[in-house]
Amino acid sequence: MTDRYDVIVVGAGPGGATSAALLAKAGLKVLLVDKNSQPGGKTMTVSKNGFRYEYWPICAGPARDGLFQKLIKQLELEEEVQVWLPDYLASAYYKDASGEMRNVILPGQKGLDDPVTLLNSILAWAGVTEKDMPEVMRCMGDMLALGPRDVADLDEVTLQEWLGRYKLPMGVYTFLATIRCEGTMEVPVDAGSASEFIRIAQATALGGGGFYIKGGLGRLSEALARSVEDHGGEVLLRTKVERIDVQDGQVTGVFTSKGVFRAPIVISSAGIHPTVLKLVGPEHFDTSYVNYVKDLVPDWGFFGARYFLDKPVLEYPVYLYCSDKTILTLDDLKKEESGWFPDDFYVYMGTNSLCPGMAPKGKQFAWIGGTCPSDPKTKMKPLWDALEKKVAELWPWVVPHIVEREYFGPAQVAALVRDQVMPGQGGECFGLAQIAGQCGKHKPSLKSPIRGLYYAGFDAGCQGLGMHAAVESGMKAAETVQRYMASHRMW
Ligand SMILES: Cc1cc2nc3c(=O)[nH]c(=O)nc-3n(C[C@H](O)[C@H](O)[C@H](O)COP(=O)(O)OP(=O)(O)OC[C@H]3O[C@@H](n4cnc5c(N)ncnc54)[C@H](O)[C@@H]3O)c2cc1C
Repeated sequence: MTDRYDVIVVGAGPGGATSAALLAKAGLKVLLVDKNSQPGGKTMTVSKNGFRYEYWPICAGPARDGLFQKLIKQLELEEEVQVWLPDYLASAYYKDASGEMRNVILPGQKGLDDPVTLLNSILAWAGVTEKDMPEVMRCMGDMLALGPRDVADLDEVTLQEWLGRYKLPMGVYTFLATIRCEGTMEVPVDAGSASEFIRIAQATALGGGGFYIKGGLGRLSEALARSVEDHGGEVLLRTKVERIDVQDGQVTGVFTSKGVFRAPIVISSAGIHPTVLKLVGPEHFDTSYVNYVKDLVPDWGFFGARYFLDKPVLEYPVYLYCSDKTILTLDDLKKEESGWFPDDFYVYMGTNSLCPGMAPKGKQFAWIGGTCPSDPKTKMKPLWDALEKKVAELWPWVVPHIVEREYFGPAQVAALVRDQVMPGQGGECFGLAQIAGQCGKHKPSLKSPIRGLYYAGFDAGCQGLGMHAAVESGMKAAETVQRYMASHRMW
C-alpha cells in the first residue's frame, strides 16, 4: 500500500463508491476509505441469524432505464448486481374523512406493463368521482408531461403551492402529500419541492419504482468497491477520516485513524455539513460559503423498528397507511421537536424477505416506521410506543409473530454514517432536504471552493430518489474530476 494517490474518496456509500469505481476504471490511482466494516453507507446490507436485511432503505427506483442500469453496464457488474422487481409492490390503505378504510394493491412489474390499470385503481382508492376527473387529469397530465425547463421553473415552489393550482379531491391530495411526497422525499408538503416531486413522479412513471437488488441493496456498493480493487485501486474499511488536509487553498490528502494519505483530489461523500464544518474546517472557507452551508436544511429523519417474524405473514414488499389526518406539515415537525407526536400518522411497512435468499425458510423480516425530526437527540420512546400502537391497530396479524425487535431513529443514522455538526442535524434520512429553494439549480455544486475538493452523494449535483440520486452524483463527480484532471494536465 502506498500513501500517494490520484484521488481519495471519503465514504463507500452509493455516491462515493460510484465515483471511486468509475475513476479507477478510467485508470486513476484511487483510494476509497470508509469508517464502517463494509461498504454501503445507509444502504448497507447486514446479516443476523440467517436474515439478510438493510438497516433502512427498502427499495430503489426507477427500475428501468435508470442510471443504475447504465452504471452497472459501464462497469460490467451485471452478474453481481441483479435487479429484483416484484409483480406487485404495495398494499396501500387509505382512511377517508368518513372513517371508511380502503385498500389498493399497487403493481410493480405489472404496473410497468399496464399503467392505465394502475392509474384507475389509484383513482378508485382515492375516491375520485366523475365530477373530479377533469381537474385530477389536468394535474396528473401536467405532472407527467411538463418538460425539464418547466419543471426547473418550479424549483422555488413548494408542492403545497403547486397542488393548490388544481381543485383536487381530498383522497388525491392525501395520496400525493403522503405516499408520494413524504414517502419518497421524507419532507412535509408545505416545504417539499414541487420540481423534485415532479422529477421523481416522471422517472418512476416511465421506469417504475420499487426494485430491490438480489442479495441486498448493499450489493451495489460492495460490487463497486470490488471493482475499485479490480482496477488497481485500494479500499480501506474500518478507517475513519479525521481530517481532510488543505494547504494554501489546495487539498493535499486525508488524516485517518490508519495514517495519512496524500492526493491532489479528494471527493467527500460524508455529507456537505460534516465535510465543510468538521473534516475540512470552516477556517479554510470564506465566511459567505460557511454561512451558505450552515443555511442548507438537512432532510427530516425516519424512526421505526425492525421485526424478526417467526412466520411469513407479509404478502407484499410494502404496506402503506395514510388518512386525511396524516398530512404532515412544517409546524407538526416543529412540535415533534418538543416532544409532541400526532395520534394519526403516515406509516410505511416493508419486507425484503420476498426476494429469494434473504430470510431463513419459514421466517420473515419486516421494517416499519414514520417521519420524525433529524436530531439524533430526539426522545424516541413516545414515537416507538405510538408506532407499536399503530401496527396493532392497522396490521394486528403481524404482532403475534414478532419474536425480536430492533428499534431505530436518527441517532442510529448519525452513529453509522453522518456526524452531527450542527444542532438538529445528523439523523437525516436522505441527506439534504428536497425542499423548495434547495433542489434543481439550487442543489449544491459538486465542486467546493477549495481546489481539489469535490462532493459526491445525495447532497450535491443530483436529483430524484435516494439511492438513485446518490449514484447520479457519484457519476457526475467522476466525470467532473476526470475533466478537471485532464485539462489541468494532472493525468
Ligand atoms: C431510514 C431511511 C430510509 C431510506 N429509504 C430509502 C429507500 O427506500 N430508497 C432509497 O433509494 N433511498 C432510501 N434512503 C436513502 C439512501 O440510503 C441514501 O440516499 C443513500 O444512502 C445516500 O448515499 P450517499 O452515498 O450519499 O451517503 P451514505 O449512504 O450516507 O454514505 C456515506 C458513507 O460515508 C461514510 N463516512 C462518513 N463520514 C466518514 C468519515 N469521516 N470517514 C470515513 N467514512 C465516512 C459512511 O460510513 C458511509 O458509508 C433511506 C435512508 C434512510 C436513513
